[in-house]
Amino acid sequence: MEKLTSPKVIEGILNKYDLHFNKRYGQNFLIDENIVRKIVEAGNVHKNDTVLEIGPGIGTMTQVLAEAAGKVYSVEIDKKLIPVLAKTLEDCNNVEIIQGDILKTDIPGLLRTNLQKNPLKIVANLPYYVTTPIIMGFLESELPIEQMTFMIQKEVGERLCAEPGTKAYGSLTIAAQFYAETEISFYVPAAVFMPRPKVDSIVVTLKKRAEPAIRVSDKKLFFQIVKASFLNRRKTLINGLQMNTDYSKERLLNALEKCGIAPGVRGETLTGEDFARLANTLSGE
Ligand code: SAM
Repeated sequence: MEKLTSPKVIEGILNKYDLHFNKRYGQNFLIDENIVRKIVEAGNVHKNDTVLEIGPGIGTMTQVLAEAAGKVYSVEIDKKLIPVLAKTLEDCNNVEIIQGDILKTDIPGLLRTNLQKNPLKIVANLPYYVTTPIIMGFLESELPIEQMTFMIQKEVGERLCAEPGTKAYGSLTIAAQFYAETEISFYVPAAVFMPRPKVDSIVVTLKKRAEPAIRVSDKKLFFQIVKASFLNRRKTLINGLQMNTDYSKERLLNALEKCGIAPGVRGETLTGEDFARLANTLSGE
């Protein structure tokens, strides 16, 4: 098998199939075999697992996933890469390539036969332009996902895994940690990609919780309150809530007092539990 992490081999493939790196699809291919193996290791992939990969590119990580997993489904948007994948994955008979946009693919339908019997894991070097909708989509889905392992832009990964009171902490942190335990696995320099992106990367793991981390009586209101509190990060909590929700100042101050939260703090000092208590109080519980 050709070594797909070799820049020479990648160039050869591009020439042979008359392809160019497509910026629009966030195509930055891995050229470091060690990193590919480390991502699959972080993915905790075993022989009885079904793995969903997003964006196989020319199949570099797909080959390693195929060795480790029972079955691999890999969804690639770029039609031009399909003949390349047919060739690079011809020896991997447990891989199924699906051409399409991951955001529009019927994943439950695709995995139906495998879902009952095998744990589902997602492993991907994500296209950075759609990181958040992809991750949030899977977090909010009913799919029985055990673990998701993503290589993403460093800043986004840090936001997913942040602690209260830090610069990276925000509504994305709370949304992700509502559904999953998030953890930074390792940092990845831009030099391991071809072409080299402008940003550094990070590998994060998200283990979906069986139940949300906190009890909220009205999920929509909870996320509204969280968003409102972070929209104007320099303002105090009460100002942010007043500016970005329809509640009166009096009602907000009452609810904050009931929850023992000082109105003059900044939103970023509140934990998910604090936001849950506030939303539950405002919803009349
Ligand atoms: N997995 C390869 C690697 O690690 O070398 C390629 C990763 S590259 C960062 C992202 C891949 O996702 C590209 O192959 C791109 O064409 C594909 N892609 C972009 N948007 C997509 C989408 N909405 N659905 C599925 N695949 C997508």
